[in-house]
Amino acid sequence: MFSEQDICKWISIHSKQTNTSWCVNNKLSNSESSRYVCRKIYMCHHSGFNKVSIDNNKKGRSKNTECKAQIDIKIKLNTKDTRKKDKYIRDGLPAVVIFVNEHNHNLASAEALSFLRPTNEVRIIYENYFNDGLGEYLSPL
Ligand SMILES: [Zn+2]
Repeated sequence: MFSEQDICKWISIHSKQTNTSWCVNNKLSNSESSRYVCRKIYMCHHSGFNKVSIDNNKKGRSKNTECKAQIDIKIKLNTKDTRKKDKYIRDGLPAVVIFVNEHNHNLASAEALSFLRPTNEVRIIYENYFNDGLGEYLSPL
């Protein structure tokens, strides 16, 4: 992944593969984003983000379960300096994807997550994934 379009493409593939759906959180500070080519944080569509709160929802059928799951995608700047400091950038892996997989609702196909494969040059970090800490792997392609 090298650009914002790549991120959007990746998210749509990921959503299909895992039967989840994600909303962009636009509330990022500029100082954060200037350190990256781009950075996007996606919230599970069951999160409280941009939704009527449960109390205010008269129909009582909100998707809002205050889900905490999110995907944080950063594409690091590829400069002489960052290449020197960061071996992943040197290896052509400037993108970092951090999953916070704490869905508090059923996923229609939870097991789909375990078959998830990155579809692009990306370094993926799972947080709290399957309860045994960090799993991390690299995908050259
Ligand atoms: Zn969720």
